[in-house]
Amino acid sequence: MPRPILATIHLGALRHNLAAARERARGARVWAVVKANAYGHGIARVFDALRGADGFALLDLAEAQLLRELGWRGPILLLEGVFEPRDLELCSRLSLWHAVHTDAQIDWLGQHKTQAPHHVFLLMNSGMNRLGFAPGRYRGAWARLNALAQVDEITLMTHFSDADGARGIAHQVAAFEAVTRDLPGGRSLSNSAALLRHAHDAAVRADWVRPGIMVYGSAPDFPEHDLQHWGLQPGMTLAARVIGVQQLQAGDSVGYGSTFIAERPMVVGTVACGYADGYPRHAATGTPVLVDGARSRTLGRVSMDMLAVDLTALPGAGLGSEVTLWGRAASGAVLAVEEVAAAAGTIGYELLCALAPRVPVLVQ
Ligand code: PLP
Repeated sequence: MPRPILATIHLGALRHNLAAARERARGARVWAVVKANAYGHGIARVFDALRGADGFALLDLAEAQLLRELGWRGPILLLEGVFEPRDLELCSRLSLWHAVHTDAQIDWLGQHKTQAPHHVFLLMNSGMNRLGFAPGRYRGAWARLNALAQVDEITLMTHFSDADGARGIAHQVAAFEAVTRDLPGGRSLSNSAALLRHAHDAAVRADWVRPGIMVYGSAPDFPEHDLQHWGLQPGMTLAARVIGVQQLQAGDSVGYGSTFIAERPMVVGTVACGYADGYPRHAATGTPVLVDGARSRTLGRVSMDMLAVDLTALPGAGLGSEVTLWGRAASGAVLAVEEVAAAAGTIGYELLCALAPRVPVLVQ
């Protein structure tokens, strides 16, 4: 018998979320962002559900190659462009579109002997200060690319740092528009948070949107709303069974470091999921779980292979009970991965990406 832990990838939910992104995009073309092995879900597993996208955006040439092997003939965008000149060879062979964010990448393109001209996405650093040309250098980069025979199309692109936060996107949109207003070519600005929060603005939707996390059914850092509010469904469920039950008296402790002490008699279930499965070790006592679909909480520290949950108020629960760590329980109840992430001081993205290879995966 394998350990009773299972990750389920819900293809119907991914299809639904992609459709939700498309609806918000209102005519803009949609990149399904599948970097980091489709945010931990597995590119090969999710490909069929996401093939309704207009293109796939990712980072690794190997993942791009996999998409071609799976039969995808449409656009693929390398969001960080190429990392060295020889990557352009494979870009040409696989007909990849690629971001350009440094002068070096323009130099490499200028020296590249390509069979077919390239479609590039010229990235402006409009305020995130991660990648891209500063506004004052953007038009110069555009002119250099435009003069190259190796380039036949330039799409203008920027990325938001705070679409889900207090600062918002107005300053970045303004910086982008001020510089690009009279430049030809399509435009691409929005990630999931911008699509969820700012899609009423046509300039934000533009020509291509780039939703990642919302396709996987997670609304980035919007504590004021649940998934239903955004019309999203969890793309991944992580669930495990209760493999041990302990009866506690007042004063008894739970787990390493005795960080949880019972104040009254309690029933504790030990669940076959730990940090070696990708569950966050920093999840505090009180992190929500669903036990047979009913909300409960973790107790004490997460171990490598196990964690403890409170069964005291759940008289029907016991050995063999299903514990949903995030996602959808068999009963249909949903626990958003963000809620778990928040209790561990992280974000849903990190938990999804960190699902451990040892966890068996069911694709449904
Ligand atoms: N576009 C770019 C350039 C990105 O780097 C990312 C992810 O970090 C995305 C789009 C997708 O972002 P999200 O998953 O927040 O929608």
